[in-house]
Amino acid sequence: MVSAAENGISVKIGEKALENRVYQIAVLKGDGIGPEVVDESIRIVETLEREIGQICHFIQYPCGAQCYVDQGDPLPESTLEGCRQAEAILLGAMGLPDVRWPDGTEMRPQVDLRFQLDLYAGVRPIYLYNPDHTPLKRMDVGDIDLVILRENVEGLFASMNAGIELRGQVAVDSMVITKSGTERAVKYAFELSTQRNKSLMKVTCVDKANVFKSMAFFRDIYDQVAQDYPEVTRDYAYIDAMALYMVQQPDAYDVIVTENMYGDILSDLAAGLVGGMGMAPSADIGEDTAVFQPSHGTAPDIAGQGIANPVGTILSVSMMLKWLGQRYHDQRVEHAAALIETAVRQVMEMPGVGTPDLGGQSSTIELGQKIADHLSEIV
Ligand code: ATP
Repeated sequence: MVSAAENGISVKIGEKALENRVYQIAVLKGDGIGPEVVDESIRIVETLEREIGQICHFIQYPCGAQCYVDQGDPLPESTLEGCRQAEAILLGAMGLPDVRWPDGTEMRPQVDLRFQLDLYAGVRPIYLYNPDHTPLKRMDVGDIDLVILRENVEGLFASMNAGIELRGQVAVDSMVITKSGTERAVKYAFELSTQRNKSLMKVTCVDKANVFKSMAFFRDIYDQVAQDYPEVTRDYAYIDAMALYMVQQPDAYDVIVTENMYGDILSDLAAGLVGGMGMAPSADIGEDTAVFQPSHGTAPDIAGQGIANPVGTILSVSMMLKWLGQRYHDQRVEHAAALIETAVRQVMEMPGVGTPDLGGQSSTIELGQKIADHLSEIV
């Protein structure tokens, strides 16, 4: 990458002299389209670095279903250790349909990583960049602008890899909701709402409190946390109704907080409102570190064809830089994050631009390059 930073030279954005802190980023490209989209997101960072100096030092580690085939472990200890040492983690996607555990379930090392690193806050922003991307009528740029805060380490995923099967007759996975786990996720949601500069600050609690004790408990804790945020509007929806409201009135939401599995499902639904899985970034955030990855999976149906949409991953890198900038009080990196988002926003507004999932004809590389070129122009 760029030598100015390596030489310790300050660079300028506008009038402002900036320090050149370089962040260690563990990169887990994974399987399927994971490597294809991660490569484009790294291209974006390298483009930026040519203009403003080095920001990231990327260190690649093996991980995923192919890694299991090669090394017998989808998440080797050395990879986990590399992630612990890094300041942030950039992840593609993991899992291959044919590579499974003996019980028939797919490898999900990206979910294991959340548990291992206690990444409790799953942040899933959903933003409409172009009205042509949505199947909904009468939606303009920015009309859909919400964040799903998915509790990431308990809920229905708590028993992942540890459910019970009895004598081939009964199988049980448990919904686990703890007070401390819910408190910190809901608090994160309220904090997020206060920082988003929306005209209406609102946190919607999505649950099934009318049926399940665990969900009534989740709502009670939401109410307790909400007392500390009187300036934020409280809102409630049952998960089934929420699937309806998201399609009917997605513009009515700011931050949505929910348990792990509901958040998983709502994230895919929400991505479908703004152009599909390729348009949805995400961050899995803990106290000590965070993983940034697109919301999508390995997309085996299009893997290897060079047509995956890299925008979700590029936006995930922007989220990563913003998080690093805020964590280390580094305005240069926060500014870099904003530049990437602006470049994506402006390229997505151009008519006819996009990979096939957006109705365009660009390849993954062509779209990545177009965003990189535009970024160079606006820096
Ligand atoms: P997982 O179970 O790992 O979360 P998933 O079941 O949600 O994965 P995906 O791999 O995300 O499945 O794919 C769902 C659909 O979205 C597929 O049709 C896939 O081709 C499409 N898709 C996913 N990511 C992209 C992308 N980056 N660009 C274009 N299409 C994508």
